[in-house]
Amino acid sequence: MIGYDGGAATHVGAIRDINQDRMLLTGTIAAVADGMGGHAGGEKAAALAIGELSGVRGTISPDRFHRVVASANRRIFETSADPNLRGMGTTIVAAVVDAEADQLNIVNVGDSRAYRLRDGQLEQLTIDHSLVEDLVREGRLSPEEALTHPQRNIVTRALGINPEIEIDMFVVDAQADDRFLLCSDGLFNEVDDAGIIEILQRVDSSEDAAAELVETAVQMGGRDNVTVVVIDIFDAEAEEAAARAQASFEVADDGVESLGPDTIVMKPVQLDAEASSAAPPPDVASSDSSLPPAPTAGDLVEPDEANPGGPNPDNADADDKKRRWLPFRTSILLMLSVIGVVGFGASGSAWYARSAYYADDVDGQVVIFRGRPGGVLWFEPVTVENTQIAVGSLDGASQELLGNRTQWRSLDDARTFVRNLDLAPSGGTANDGG
Ligand code: MN
Repeated sequence: MIGYDGGAATHVGAIRDINQDRMLLTGTIAAVADGMGGHAGGEKAAALAIGELSGVRGTISPDRFHRVVASANRRIFETSADPNLRGMGTTIVAAVVDAEADQLNIVNVGDSRAYRLRDGQLEQLTIDHSLVEDLVREGRLSPEEALTHPQRNIVTRALGINPEIEIDMFVVDAQADDRFLLCSDGLFNEVDDAGIIEILQRVDSSEDAAAELVETAVQMGGRDNVTVVVIDIFDAEAEEAAARAQASFEVADDGVESLGPDTIVMKPVQLDAEASSAAPPPDVASSDSSLPPAPTAGDLVEPDEANPGGPNPDNADADDKKRRWLPFRTSILLMLSVIGVVGFGASGSAWYARSAYYADDVDGQVVIFRGRPGGVLWFEPVTVENTQIAVGSLDGASQELLGNRTQWRSLDDARTFVRNLDLAPSGGTANDGG
């Protein structure tokens, strides 16, 4: 059984005014959408597609996956009846993990791409729906010519253009240590395969790899918006077994039974050994084993969960990476296995309950919460910041996206999401025509 963790990054590029790419990365689904159309339309189309996909929970069949994308298509098509949005469309490339089957189900429409890196080989998994791809297939253009063709941005298929859509679906084998890449054309039109492989092989963390790929594309010209999602596959059974072994060792070692469940979540095998010898975090030490620790203000911004050894100013950076990386990975373990959820017990649930961020409408203001929408067990989400953005100032599509209460792994990700909502133009002030 496999699981994945991942990182994502996006950039407007060096030339364009606005970023019409959108991305999604949850414990269930990863996606990149590259919007096109008028000033407002491209963003809206991409946001609608991502919004529709963000509703996917748990493993879904290829059939259902297909239906979700088809419904996103119809939604965009219907919304484009608005004269201001006429002709808008978006590419979509999205992947859901089928943990039991050790497979990734990938859908594609347009010229965004999915790749798999395995044993140093980069394999393009999707087929571009683009003019140059057609010309290459017909033998009228060489693959080399396609790379620099002036019309390489023209897509032959996109969501939102017609009420019916043909969707490519790929079922791809996935195994531990595979690295998958989803990206908009802003990446591969600037960075060649060798450059992509070099970064994917050298940079360990999926977040850092995504960020470096995006930065490189911008430095190489950045003529388009560029968006990258990197997904790392791991063996979920092995991880879980290792975590359990580690947990029972910890319980036996310090004799404090209530620390057991926390130990599972906070210290997967990748963590430094020295962390285990230090004192537990204060909120755990002071809590009764049957009750969750009460959230505190400091706890919101500087979660202790991933750093049971307490703050260590000497390697604050490393700690920071662990914080961002561990919750997501473990949250996938939790979703994959009901036994895992039960086994982690009360403290594990506390950790799970607070390991995400989302934005919501509170009395007409956009507020970012830490926690899970609706809470988990007895853990209520906690307010992290009021963005001072009035919900009424957002356009309809953005309000709808806000209503999805998509969960983000870090406060930064949640802030970026809110910023993107706020940037969506609501007036007719297009400066690049329809
Ligand atoms: Mn693009």
